[in-house]
Amino acid sequence: MQLDDHAEELASDLGVDKQEVKADLENLIEYSVPVDEAKQSLRRKYGDTQSGETPTVSSIDEIDPDDGTVNLTARVLTVGTREIHYDGETQVIREGTIADESGKIGYTAWDDFGFEAGDTVTVGNGSVREFRDKPEINIGDSSTVTIKDESLEVPYRVGGDRSLTELSVGDSGRVIEVVVEEVETRTISGRDGETTIKSGVIADETGRLPFTDWAARPEMTTGATLRLEDVYVREFRGVPEISLSKFTTVTELNKPIEPQSDRTRLTIQEAVKTGGVYDIEIVGNIVDIQDGSGLIERCPECNRIVQNGRCRTHGDVDGVDDLRVKAVIDDGTGAATVVLDKEQTAEIYGGGIDAARQAARDAMDQSVVREKIGEEIIGREYRVSGHLSVDEYGARIEATEFVEADGNVAQQAEELLTGVES
Ligand SMILES: [Zn+2]
Repeated sequence: MQLDDHAEELASDLGVDKQEVKADLENLIEYSVPVDEAKQSLRRKYGDTQSGETPTVSSIDEIDPDDGTVNLTARVLTVGTREIHYDGETQVIREGTIADESGKIGYTAWDDFGFEAGDTVTVGNGSVREFRDKPEINIGDSSTVTIKDESLEVPYRVGGDRSLTELSVGDSGRVIEVVVEEVETRTISGRDGETTIKSGVIADETGRLPFTDWAARPEMTTGATLRLEDVYVREFRGVPEISLSKFTTVTELNKPIEPQSDRTRLTIQEAVKTGGVYDIEIVGNIVDIQDGSGLIERCPECNRIVQNGRCRTHGDVDGVDDLRVKAVIDDGTGAATVVLDKEQTAEIYGGGIDAARQAARDAMDQSVVREKIGEEIIGREYRVSGHLSVDEYGARIEATEFVEADGNVAQQAEELLTGVES
């Protein structure tokens, strides 16, 4: 055994910092104390200040962000591998969730300790920190991980297998089985110069999500059915997106995957609760049209809306005319802003930019365009498809489809809601 190993064993047993123990150990050995005696002496030293010779073993539900370090035995639920850039260096980390009978907690391991999902491990000297308002365990240089033979039973799902609708932003180490519906190859300029990536849409029986394959794998082709192991979910433009890193394993599947042909229809309340959702459908009444709708001007530099000839970033600019609608849709469960692009707006208005310009000139007032659009859609019920994002201003859906609804779906939803309340 090397000195390092002795220090590690002591650090793990005593639940103290490895570097500290190692320094003490080196010190004693320098004074010609035999290593076993030195270890005994350190056990006494740290044992006096800690709780005896047995290390403190916490159960997960008792872990508090104020706890410095913990020792615990837990089942590894998920392991995600990721490369992060920290302090100018590139480091591979493992992250996921571990659990015992009492609860589960997120972890980040800064070394490869060799454990996999399903393993039962004893973590020595894990440090507790707060991450996204929750305690998390950091397993680093001064920690130890021992893989146990016996398996700890926990009341949680072991492994990363999920359906697409079960995924949310921040998940890592997930395993999904999907069919590739759309894919395009692009070159982007990244950290290490030009990189080729693939992006598109994948689907399973439960739903659809956009993806980016940062390694542009040849297997990611339209129609391919694949098992993707170790993917993570990030937020991109307000909706979840699957990321395939270089650590993701892609295996071709010999079975068909049949995605739903219909979009998932959600109430606005349900959609908002997701925090951001890809490709859904809502049905509701248009109750208002917001400022910045109709004939608008955009900054030629940054595309932002120009007001009175001024861009907030670029000052006085020659604005470029555009058409847009920002309408408020309400289905009785909640409200969201529907954003329609130039083509969709032109269709409702019954004319393009030239017609709108002419009308504004004739009336010597740009707001006539907005008013006419309002007369067309306010008070009517629409079926809206698209990606819904949620931020501090509320929910917003960039419509890919905006069509007048045929039934009284919103009214039914309202009646249903009223029925529940009364
Ligand atoms: Zn600008």
